[in-house]
Amino acid sequence: MTEPTRDLFLEAVSRLDQASNYAKLHPEALERMKHPKSVLQVSIPVRMDDGRLEIFQGYRVRHDDNRGPTKGGIRYHPDVNLSEVKALALWMTCKCAVVGIPFGGAKGGVQVDPKKLSKLELERVSRGFINQIADFIGPDTDIPAPDVYTNSMIMGWMADEYSKIRRKKVPAVITGKPIEIGGSLGRNDATGRGAYYCIKEIEKKRGWDPKAITVAVQGFGNAGQHAARLLHADGYKVIAVSDSRGGIKRDAGLDVPAVTWAKVNEGRLRGVTGTGPDLSDVDVGTITNEELLELDVDVLIPAALEDVIVQDNAPRIRAKVIVEAANGPITPNADKVLNEKKVIVVPDILANAGGVTVSYFEWVQNRTSFYWPETEVQQRLQEIMSREFNAVFDVAAEHNIDMRTAAYVHSLTRIGAAVSSQGTSSFFVGKGADALSDRPR
Ligand code: NAD
Repeated sequence: MTEPTRDLFLEAVSRLDQASNYAKLHPEALERMKHPKSVLQVSIPVRMDDGRLEIFQGYRVRHDDNRGPTKGGIRYHPDVNLSEVKALALWMTCKCAVVGIPFGGAKGGVQVDPKKLSKLELERVSRGFINQIADFIGPDTDIPAPDVYTNSMIMGWMADEYSKIRRKKVPAVITGKPIEIGGSLGRNDATGRGAYYCIKEIEKKRGWDPKAITVAVQGFGNAGQHAARLLHADGYKVIAVSDSRGGIKRDAGLDVPAVTWAKVNEGRLRGVTGTGPDLSDVDVGTITNEELLELDVDVLIPAALEDVIVQDNAPRIRAKVIVEAANGPITPNADKVLNEKKVIVVPDILANAGGVTVSYFEWVQNRTSFYWPETEVQQRLQEIMSREFNAVFDVAAEHNIDMRTAAYVHSLTRIGAAVSSQGTSSFFVGKGADALSDRPR
């Protein structure tokens, strides 16, 4: 399933180049997008439980802040590298612009396998990373959040460490915190819920009857579980789900709440029905992650990792609609194959933008010290996701392009307007009326 060694950042830039052919964008704005605003690499010395000193490498990249302070998660993974963090930061710039929230993009990462750390070591790494990047972040400059293998408790430690350094409480420096210390209601299921709202818009356009629509979900963690739960509650037939160890499949549909209870409480996927802990067994088939991706379903939701649909398996994909809850699950080569097959792909920068949108709500609530009920969070999220899904859909129809390119066009148009509002070459070297034509009004 592998493709030749790739540079994720250059790949991300090439997607921008392609989209720029359709966007109203000054060439200077496009050039700005190709160069991250700033890149920080740090070494984090950590005293391990056995007394050894270990040094971890960490990165924080601020990609672009023309539309507001930068925003993006912190990832813990042994494979974290600078090119990946730069690409993820660029995607964040585009994601924030797609949904129209007033942020630019950033990303952070620490090269570490958190599964090999004790809880105390994990806390020391997390506080140590914030110590090293404290002058780089802040509620008005750069606001981190959770990403792969970081969670709300880690965000709480990080916010606390930053507050200690500043000698005052600064909850808005980081989002995805526990509710009790400034997190937002509705943040936990926001990513899956955002993907669900996208599917509801397709349902309206296609006149779908949910009971007749089959769904498969790869990755049954935060994003995947909540998308599956909400679709199941609406009557969609979720026929297969998987985690890193493989999946389960039932043609008549899985009892998603029961399967979720078992996964959360027993740590594994199994065929069950009922209300936890009162569950009874149901016959299900087992399925590999590769087989799940190739199922003949109406909707496929990759919600695990990058690069799961590649050139090799793309011809065998039978889903009619793919909603990218994960970041980067489809490679550019696979995209070409899926486009030829007329598969509708709702791209990551739109489909999983519910997470950063509710992170924005958290930041607003922290800054005003006024906290919203969950229904208000959900209603505002739905408004944004539905509006921006339809905007991207219309751009795709207008130019007869795929939804990924359309999402980039939509975001580049907003980013380009922000850059141009500060003047481009035609303003600075132009003469007379021309010189004033792109003066901000
Ligand atoms: P998570 O850690 O909660 O869940 C990940 C799930 O994927 C787990 O069930 C894990 O077992 C499964 N998994 C791991 N390796 C797998 C493999 N090889 N095959 C199948 N399943 C595998 O993570 P999450 O927060 O749900 O994030 C998942 C994806 O969604 C990531 O790409 C992340 O960047 C993206 N995302 C998440 C959020 C968010 O708010 N959580 C926001 C935007 C994007």
